[in-house]
This record gives sequence, structure tokens and C-alpha cells, in this order.
Amino acid sequence: MENPILDFLYLICIVLFIIGLKNLSHPESAKKGNFLSASGMILAIIITLFYPMEGASNNYLVIIAGVIVGSVIGYLAAKRVKMTAMPELVSLFNGLGGACSMLIAFVEFNNLPEGANLMSGNVLTIIFAMFIGSISFTGSIIAWGKLNGALRDNLVLPAPQFVNGILLLAVIGFSIFIMMQPELNFTWVIILLVLSLVYGVTFVTPIGGGDMPVVISLLNSFTGIAAAIAGLIYGNQVMIVGGIVVGASGTILTILMCNAMNRSLLNVIIGGFGSGGKSAGTDREQVVKEASLGDTAIQLKYSSKVMIVPGYGLAVAQAQHTCHELEKSLEAEGVEVKYAIHPVAGRMPGHMNVLLAEADVSYDKLLELEPANEEFKSTDMVLVIGANDVVNPAAKEDAGSPIYGMPILDVEQAGTVIVLKRSMNPGYAGIENPLFFGEKTKMLFGDAKDSLGKLKNELSNA
Ligand code: NDP
Repeated sequence: MENPILDFLYLICIVLFIIGLKNLSHPESAKKGNFLSASGMILAIIITLFYPMEGASNNYLVIIAGVIVGSVIGYLAAKRVKMTAMPELVSLFNGLGGACSMLIAFVEFNNLPEGANLMSGNVLTIIFAMFIGSISFTGSIIAWGKLNGALRDNLVLPAPQFVNGILLLAVIGFSIFIMMQPELNFTWVIILLVLSLVYGVTFVTPIGGGDMPVVISLLNSFTGIAAAIAGLIYGNQVMIVGGIVVGASGTILTILMCNAMNRSLLNVIIGGFGSGGKSAGTDREQVVKEASLGDTAIQLKYSSKVMIVPGYGLAVAQAQHTCHELEKSLEAEGVEVKYAIHPVAGRMPGHMNVLLAEADVSYDKLLELEPANEEFKSTDMVLVIGANDVVNPAAKEDAGSPIYGMPILDVEQAGTVIVLKRSMNPGYAGIENPLFFGEKTKMLFGDAKDSLGKLKNELSNA
């Protein structure tokens, strides 16, 4: 139903989404961007309540109850979640978005007028929204289970690509079959729904845990597409534009992450990284040299340039503030300090940037992978803080390694490398790191926050 005032207000929501998204692209304006986009979404929900609902006025109560329950759960979940568990939450929320599109499409089958021609663009749109929404839903639940450890990473179905191919063909065949029927038979719709849900499971299950960030980003773009298609069903501009924005940004992020790992999307989907595979091992002598706090502090003090490589362990230890304090102490001694940020360090895209911004580390000090790799040669000391896979030279040197081909931070180019971690345990990919046995490397064992605090104290005594 057309209503120029409500349509104009929808346009304001769309503008808020786009300005919000633009602001999200820089850490300094990200908070404002989040606020603007969320305001656009709240406005869109309120406006939608004013759209006349033919013969369904009683639904307001159900909608308001849904909004209240959803808001409370969303608020509590976001408030309580640990930073390290954020990708799981994103995956779960994304799955629920997909489930919404799936349910909308399912309900719309029910709303088709009796005797409607099923061979129509409208029915095709509904089928498409149901299929994409279902993949996002079950695929995201599997991704969530893999990230939080509830599902085994090596849970691989037999001949997964064959099974996926057959299922996809079955979905396409069934869709055509439904559209060719003279009238709608709901049993067929339910079978199509079940096939789509199963496809979501078999699509994500073979993919290794190390690739989950890429998969979550891909599923996120699917959810956007499903929402945009659901918007087409209702002719709702906000859903269409919102869905397109999510779909496009999810696709761009997926491509950027694949590029960061030097892999194609097909290679990620077929599986491999983080889902098994053995390193061919290392010829280097397996000797680990331990660093002492005192020596490390003196070496840091007399360095001209120090590069910090943060990783997942920094997030676990919540060591970002202590790290920033050490950085300030070093700068007070005349040492130049920079941070080298790997695109997949941590457990979600931009994880390290968010942590360091939280601790007020200046954005100018953060170097991306390529510029950082150029600067290691002129760096006296590298502090690898809770990072492992992103500095693993096996990615360049060992063709048998599951992470072979992923670009890494070339810390070995620097004068000395000090690795702060608690033990010799592997990182996310579950493989040994030859860097720890390298000639220039020394290990400073302990919790990252604790070690950084002690280093700062030693520095003032040095
Ligand atoms: P890793 O997971 O490779 O290694 C983290 C290291 O931190 C561990 O070896 C661990 O060793 C150490 N650690 C854990 N807790 C502490 C602590 N309290 N103090 C000190 N050290 C600690 O991290 P990276 O950041 O190097 O690599 C990220 C990995 O995660 C990549 O494989 C990436 O593909 C994957 N991934 C990335 C996502 C993203 O979007 N960024 C999402 C999901 C996965 P120890 O136990 O001995 O202390």
C-alpha cells in the first residue's frame, strides 16, 4: 500500500544506513556509524508498524511482544559476550536473520491467492528467499558450533562435494516441479524447505574451523541477499536496500579475507585449512631459547625501533591496555613503536584494531601486512604478543602445511623476536610453529598481560 509520508521516512532510514556504513569504515567514526545505522533500523521498525496491515490489526500485540523479547535477548547477549566469543555471536545473529527470511518466504506461500499461477516471478522470488534464508540459518548454526567447539572440526561427511551437488540439483529440480503444478501442494513446499535446510548443513560442515571467518562473512552476505529478496516480496524499499547493503558488504569482506589468506573462495568452500593436514615438519634444530624479563627490558630500551605483533592471545589476556602503557614507556625512552596487524589475527575481522582502539593506541601506528613486512628489516625488536599462526613461516616454507600460501608477518626479518605466550601450544590451525625454534627467537612464557606489566616495571628499573 502506497503512502508518500511513510515512503519518505523509509528514504531517511536508507540514508542513515548508508552514512552509518560509511562511518563504520574508520575506527574513529565507527561508534557514530553504528549509532546512525541502529537509529535507521529503529526508525524503520517504527515506520513499519504504521503501515496498514490488511485484516491483521490484532498482530500489533504479537509484534510488540516480539520486539520486546528480541530487544531484551539482543541487549543481554551483546552486553555479556566476551570479545573473544564475538564471532560466535555474530554467526548466531546472522543465522537468525536467515531464519527470518526463510519464515517470511514460507508464510508467503500460504498467502498466495487460491488458483494463483505458480509459474511466476513472485513464486520464484519466494522460493529463492526460502532457499537462501535456509542456508544462512543452518549454515550459521553449524559455524557457531564449530567456533565454540560444540562441533568437531574434523566432522567431515563422506564425499561432501558429491552430496552437496546432488542436494543442490534436488533443490533446483523440486523448485521447478513445484512451479509446474496447477495448484500449490504444501507438502512439496515443506520437502523443499527441509532440503534447503539440509543443504545449509552439508555446505558448511566440510569447511575447516580456520576458514570460519570467511564462511561467516559469506553467510552474512547470503542473509543480506535473502533479506533483499524478502523485501522484493513485500515491495519494501528499506528491506531491499538494507539487504543489498549487507549482501554487498559481506561479499566484499569475503573477497578481502580470501585475498588476505591468498586463497580462492572455491578453495575455502572445498575445505582444507584448519580442518586437518599435517605439516611436513621442520629441519631446524628444535631448541627453544627462553628470554628473561630483565634482558628483554634492556634490549627494548636500547632499540631504535620496536614492532608489536598482536594476536588472539592478546585478546584472551585482555592485555591491550598494558601493551599501550609499555608502548608509552618505550616512547618516553625515545624508542619508535609500531604495530603490525595481520588481517586474520584474532578471531574476527578487525579484532586487533578494535582491541587497540579500545586502549587508545593511535591509529597511525598500525601497519597492515604489506607495509609491516617492508619495515621488519629496519626493526630491531619484534614483540609477538599472543600471536601464532599469523607469524608461522610454515605458511611460506612448508608445502605440506595446512596454512601453506597464507601471507604471514615476516618477523624473522627483524633483529630479534620475543614471543610472549604461555606455553608451546599451537594456535588456531593446530600446527607447530618453526619460528619459536628460530635463531633470532626467544620465548617469554606467561600470560601476556602479566608479562607486559612486568616488562614495563623492568623497563623503569633498567
Ligand atoms: P592463534 O590462534 O594462532 O594463536 C594464539 C596464541 O595465543 C596461542 O598459541 C596461545 O598460546 C596464545 N595465548 C592464548 N592465551 C594467551 C594468554 N593469556 N597470554 C599469552 N598468550 C596466550 O592466533 P593468531 O592471532 O596468530 O591467528 C589467528 C588464527 O585464528 C588464524 O589461524 C585465523 O585464521 C584464525 N581465525 C581468525 C579469525 C578472524 O577473523 N580474525 C576468526 C576465526 C579464526 P598459549 O596457549 O601457549 O598461550
